[in-house]
Amino acid sequence: LSETIPHMIWTATPDGNKNFFNKYFMDYTGLSFEELKGNGWEKTISPDDLEKELQQWQQSLTTGKDFVIEKRIRHHDGTYRWHLSHSIPQKDIDGNITGWIGTSTDIHDQKNAEEKIRVAEEFSRNVLQNSPDCVKVLDKEGLISFMNTNGLCLMEIEDFNIVKNKPWWELWGVENKEIIDAALTTARAGNTAQFQAYCPTAKGTPKWWDVIVTPLFGIDGTVTQLISVSRDITERIKTEQKKDEFISIASHEMKTPLTTAKAYLQLLELSLDGSDEKANLYAKKASLSVTRLNELISELLDVSKIQHGKLNYNFSTFNFTNMIDATVVDMQHTSAKHSIIKTGNISRQVTGDKERLQQVVTNLLSNAIKYSPDSLDVFINVEEKNGVIKVSVKDNGIGIPKPDLEKIFDRYYRVEDHALQFQGLGIGLFISYEIIQRHGGKLWAESEPGGGSIFYFTLPV
Ligand code: ADP
Repeated sequence: LSETIPHMIWTATPDGNKNFFNKYFMDYTGLSFEELKGNGWEKTISPDDLEKELQQWQQSLTTGKDFVIEKRIRHHDGTYRWHLSHSIPQKDIDGNITGWIGTSTDIHDQKNAEEKIRVAEEFSRNVLQNSPDCVKVLDKEGLISFMNTNGLCLMEIEDFNIVKNKPWWELWGVENKEIIDAALTTARAGNTAQFQAYCPTAKGTPKWWDVIVTPLFGIDGTVTQLISVSRDITERIKTEQKKDEFISIASHEMKTPLTTAKAYLQLLELSLDGSDEKANLYAKKASLSVTRLNELISELLDVSKIQHGKLNYNFSTFNFTNMIDATVVDMQHTSAKHSIIKTGNISRQVTGDKERLQQVVTNLLSNAIKYSPDSLDVFINVEEKNGVIKVSVKDNGIGIPKPDLEKIFDRYYRVEDHALQFQGLGIGLFISYEIIQRHGGKLWAESEPGGGSIFYFTLPV
């Protein structure tokens, strides 16, 4: 048996003189019986472990008790590998020691794996504890089983036991239950969920959070736990609110003197009798610039109204095609270089906010002109199909990269390359999106960089 099993085996006389090493022992260490016998075997033990081994062995010889030790043994390839060794006294019927038998099992790989797991666990614990975010570990039901120290600090909770085993939503208030439940459902299905929410701390300090919920998979591949990482974004939200507030106040403040300037410019234009051509031209140009400035300020005000849900709409029934035609004529005046080509017609009256819809068409046409400096035609098509009006505005301009296509409808978003070459505030499409959505329609774009863009919007009739 000792010659066949893949473990090191030795025997010794009652006084500890080792007198047998199995074949595996000799193969493993690369030493012969002659080299191992006596104290020879000691040179197979790592110098770091030898003293411990000899002490234990000496103690066993005195007490007659077996011992187990972990030690490093030198493999014939020169490396030291971890072993679990067991030395057992053999006794006769009267309890006298008749000899010793010892085994050593190579546990190096197992020990390494255990060490790796230990390091990984230590690493995760450190990352969790020292994360600047609030990290919670939840069971599948959404009950809190762990919360890091920073999380407790951020939430102003003095003792983890206060929240332990409580549902997350109970900590964040019933007003957040729906959004939390939706995120947990997504994570339970093995996906990542993200949302933003307002939840004050236990002591009532207002806080905004950006939350990510991810699943933790067990060895069988099923979701066993959920992890939520909540980032405190209160400062960011406050800064954004301050910026919005500033833009709103500044726009209001600018609106009054601008209206006055516009009125005086109109008076000036009227009072010029036409004989001074230069004066007429300058007054006209100044008036156009003031009108443009007025439009920009109105757009900024629209953004802040949208933010506060206060963009007003005046619904009426009007002739849609006439509105499109008038807008095309107006826009044609803004660019001598481009031709706006309109196709399609719809005969029916439409109910909506005429001015706001005109604002959308103006924005799409002015973008089509602005972002196609080298191509001359801009196309607008109007059609009605299955109870839906569809308007498309097409240009052969610079186009939009795929990753930006969805973001261009966000507030202040501008494609990075475009922002360097063209002026703009990145709010026209944001406002247009809101207007179309308010009319129950959809606004979207198809585009290829260098291949032009088509913007579509639909309206239910
Ligand atoms: P602005 O044009 O003032 O920047 P918009 O909200 O109207 O703001 O448009 C947002 C962004 O979308 C623009 O900055 C531009 O990068 C991109 N974009 C809009 N329309 C077009 C178009 N027709 N062709 C290429 N890019 C466009």
